[in-house]
Amino acid sequence: MVEITSSTKITGIIGYPIKHTLSPIMHNRAFSLLNLDFLYVVFPVEPKDLDKAVMALSALKIKGVNVTIPFKQDILKYLDEIAPCAGRIGAVNTIVNENGKLIGYNTDGEGFINSLKEVNFEIEGKKILLLGAGGACRAVAVALAWAGAKKIIVATRDVNKAEKMIKETGLDQELQTECFSLPGLPAEKIAEPDLIVNTTPLGMAPLEDKMPDISLEGLHSSQYVYDLIYNPLETVLLRQARLKGCKTVNGIGMLVHQGAKSFYLWTQKKPPIEEMRHAILQYVGNSRKKLP
Ligand code: NAP
Repeated sequence: MVEITSSTKITGIIGYPIKHTLSPIMHNRAFSLLNLDFLYVVFPVEPKDLDKAVMALSALKIKGVNVTIPFKQDILKYLDEIAPCAGRIGAVNTIVNENGKLIGYNTDGEGFINSLKEVNFEIEGKKILLLGAGGACRAVAVALAWAGAKKIIVATRDVNKAEKMIKETGLDQELQTECFSLPGLPAEKIAEPDLIVNTTPLGMAPLEDKMPDISLEGLHSSQYVYDLIYNPLETVLLRQARLKGCKTVNGIGMLVHQGAKSFYLWTQKKPPIEEMRHAILQYVGNSRKKLP
């Protein structure tokens, strides 16, 4: 750990509830490894206090924060500037304090794409089924469109939210889109995509025994199944998909890559990605070899 002095730059994360976050582990390991005079702390902010928390970032000269559930969309109205990518997604997961000016970025989409590269999934020309239509889904969908996906199918419990997401992000201008309600996704829509991504919290502790309400009958072994969840490392959905012979990917890679991009935005230093990943895997008591 760095020695904390009056010149230590403070970064952190705001959200509520926030106990689950693994971000301090990877960021503090990275700061320490690069001998940077930075510290990453957790700020549990109750929703009623969001405006005060944002004002405090400037007043306390906090260098930057990550933003997580439930503030990724609400935070936009409090910021001085929004980077184009975050503006299009309509959600911010990283704030940088540039001499009192608070700038909002979104690194989730880039994190997702970089994690797909690691498992050798080529996005160009591919069809992708997204389960859910919340903040993370928006980032993933926009990033997939930028990376050249051919079609995005969105299935969520309120189909109006899926249609709203597609309209607001302009996805329908760039690629083929289809929206469905959950439950009720036709079996052929499970078989059609090259990649299926769970962007709902179904399967995440304490909902560990849950998964999105889809039938897995149509799954086949040439498909990739990705769960943004990283706790547990293998969700019910990933386990079922693995048993069907699919290639499965959990949320650790995205977590590490979105964090690495935030790290760069705050420090302008190349992030030590493998050490960040190792810090997290060490913490969750696992090794990379065991990852699904
Ligand atoms: P969010 O904005 O709250 O969106 C959640 C989505 O899931 C919404 O579409 C929501 O539907 C749906 N949903 C929630 N509960 C549901 C239920 N019981 N049944 C069916 N659908 C349900 O959350 P988010 O920020 O997108 O995060 C979603 C997940 O991604 C979380 O598990 C989070 O930890 C994970 N995530 C991982 C990373 C990473 O780096 N690996 C990064 C970001 C997020 P409604 O709109 O109808 O409520």
